[in-house]
Amino acid sequence: MLTVQLVQEWMKKTNERMQENKAYLTELDQAIGDSDHGINMSRGFREVVNKLEQSAYDDVSTVLKDVAMTLMSKVGGASGPLYGTAFLKLSTALKGKDIVNKEDLAAGLEAAANGIQHRGKSTTGEKTMVDVWVPVVLWWKGQDEINAEGLEKVAKEAMESTKSMEATKGRASYLQAKSVGHIDPGSTSSYYIFKSLAEVLV
Ligand code: ADP
Ligand code: MG
Repeated sequence: MLTVQLVQEWMKKTNERMQENKAYLTELDQAIGDSDHGINMSRGFREVVNKLEQSAYDDVSTVLKDVAMTLMSKVGGASGPLYGTAFLKLSTALKGKDIVNKEDLAAGLEAAANGIQHRGKSTTGEKTMVDVWVPVVLWWKGQDEINAEGLEKVAKEAMESTKSMEATKGRASYLQAKSVGHIDPGSTSSYYIFKSLAEVLV
């Protein structure tokens, strides 16, 4: 189940992870991109937490909408609009729901994953964050109940699977075959988002 308070905790934990791993995300983006993913994520999620602390919320959908709007307006680069779209789709899918259960979240995360692909004109196997979101959603839909441990594991394996992929979308695609052998930065930040979600789910 997800509540307003749990979304706030989810974002807090995500932010902590982005701050702790800012240098690592930069390093990953240095190898196959333009070295700004650590800066983008640390700034974006810090702003998200600031925004959520300033407001009082009655429902999950509205909190997620503020997350989306903050990421869209504060994060430069490809990842800002993509994560912004993901959280906006999740917000829309959960609109009007007082109680958000496992099925609602499955539908919401699926809408989010579809939103990323639509916005990024991307699909699986292209060495992007999509390679984490899609397998996580597919796995989630097959679960009978919330399985936090499983979620962390699936997201981690999905992130690691990007190492052997050749990038065909985003900046990393300029490197073609040279992108192979490096974990995708956006898949890593997506792993942090799901690892944090796993920690707050009840
Ligand atoms: P930029 O690439 O503009 O510098 P970031 O470094 O913040 O932005 O984010 C890069 C990440 O965004 C990549 O590692 C990848 O996961 C993701 N990404 C880039 N382009 C796309 C796309 N078209 N579809 C899905 N994800 C993408
Ligand atoms: Mg970058």
